[in-house]
Amino acid sequence: MSFIAKQDTKAYKFLELERVRQRDGIELIASENYVSQAVLEAIGTVFTNKYSEGYPGKRYYAGNEIVDEVETLAIERAKELFEAEHVNVQPLSGSPANMAVYFALLKPGDKVLGMKLDHGGHLSHGHPVNFSGMMFDFSQYMVDKDSGRVNMDEVREIALKEKPKMIVAGFSAYSREMEWQRFREIADEIGAIAFADIAHVAGLIAGKQIANPTPFFDVVSTTTHKTLRGPRGAIIMCKKEYAKAIDKAVFPGLQGGPHDNTTYGKAVAFGEALTADFQEHTAQVIKNAKVMAEELMKKEFKIVSDGTDNHLMVVDLRSKNKTGKEVTDALDKAGISVSMSTIPFDPNPPMNPSGIRLGTPAITTRGMMEEEMKRIAQWVSDGVDHSDDEAYLENLRKEITEFCKEFPVPGI
Ligand SMILES: *Cc1c(COP(=O)(O)O)cnc(C)c1O
Repeated sequence: MSFIAKQDTKAYKFLELERVRQRDGIELIASENYVSQAVLEAIGTVFTNKYSEGYPGKRYYAGNEIVDEVETLAIERAKELFEAEHVNVQPLSGSPANMAVYFALLKPGDKVLGMKLDHGGHLSHGHPVNFSGMMFDFSQYMVDKDSGRVNMDEVREIALKEKPKMIVAGFSAYSREMEWQRFREIADEIGAIAFADIAHVAGLIAGKQIANPTPFFDVVSTTTHKTLRGPRGAIIMCKKEYAKAIDKAVFPGLQGGPHDNTTYGKAVAFGEALTADFQEHTAQVIKNAKVMAEELMKKEFKIVSDGTDNHLMVVDLRSKNKTGKEVTDALDKAGISVSMSTIPFDPNPPMNPSGIRLGTPAITTRGMMEEEMKRIAQWVSDGVDHSDDEAYLENLRKEITEFCKEFPVPGI
């Protein structure tokens, strides 16, 4: 980074500060990860200079012979990773990818069924403040109050009653496996399009740790920067019959030129995800999450659905008489990053919800294992218990900074 350092000391300072922040803290935000040095390099290359509106072999600009190869490489690797018939690797991020899916396969006002935000769904699955909820007529399924799991009989009931044109299966804050097959059956029963948004678990699917809906869903979207550990961005996968509609919706429907440096990074990240090392890594991500959930439950924390099958867990803080906001702020002071989260049927407002969401992808990338999960669970618990004690949290931060030195972050 010698050029930034020399040319722009003001901007460079922020880079140094952020590197230190990422190095010295424990990253438990479930949607975050640390990309490899190779992916970091890839997204900072001359591919950022190129304009490539169109698709491989059909561009509106000259000089795309090499970009065509890069995009094709990313597509071929994604096809292999997810067993997809068709892949579009141009979406700029998860929400725009979902927008392209809706625009490709629906008309404004069409009925859609998606998971409710405070039950684990994503904003782009029909929340009223999001374009999805404004433009389409969403109904929403929830989790069961006692089990904390999606009740598939209820999903079917709503589907039969509402007859949506599309059913969205997927989540941002749900720690159990989705019953992809049941969603497919319900969609078939009413003739709906089955759409899976695997943004959170794509890495676990690519690593062959949990079930993959791609072979039997009509369309699947995913971000590339969460458990998949690639650059910020997204891809859309679909059956051949929807390929044209999806491609047209992404470009020219929604986007102009793709970000070729990001496409390059996606190709490199997908190459990593195809390795046995990545499978091992994702197995450890899940093992670590299970250990952390168990440890927290031993310390009288309530985990929604009483455990996890994936990389994340939603912690209901009401048993500790704390809220998501105060715990998030307190843990941040101790050097532990978490995100606040609503819990199903949350009595508190979204800006100060009753829970936090924790995830293990980033800390597993640093090489932390079961033993470290136990220590971290203890620190989370201590931080919650001492959320008003600034001096305690400051001391905890020092201990955590020391601990983090043993676990290097790629690229730092
Ligand atoms: C993160 C996420 C998205 C949105 O991704 P952005 O890149 O933040 O726009 C969409 N769907 C789900 C399920 C997600 O978890």
